[in-house]
Amino acid sequence: MQLIECPYCGPREEVEFHYGGQAHIAYPETPSELSDEEWARYVFFRDNTKGEFAERWSHSGGCRRWFNAVRDTRTYAFHSTYRIGEKP
Ligand SMILES: [Zn+2]
Repeated sequence: MQLIECPYCGPREEVEFHYGGQAHIAYPETPSELSDEEWARYVFFRDNTKGEFAERWSHSGGCRRWFNAVRDTRTYAFHSTYRIGEKP
């Protein structure tokens, strides 16, 4: 079991966390003007990176806050965690 550094609580066991998908996906500025294909692309299409990848995580078994993490998808190792709105 590995420890994940919650930016609010500090290091905690990984069972306290849940994955929330790719980070830094901006909500469309004018969603009503998107075609069905553009909307589907926003909702369903995500990168499938092999290597370092920015992701959203929730400390669901602790403070219940969302944060971002850079994780290597090949090794599952976390390189950094940072609060929403901060830079990695
Ligand atoms: Zn926390």
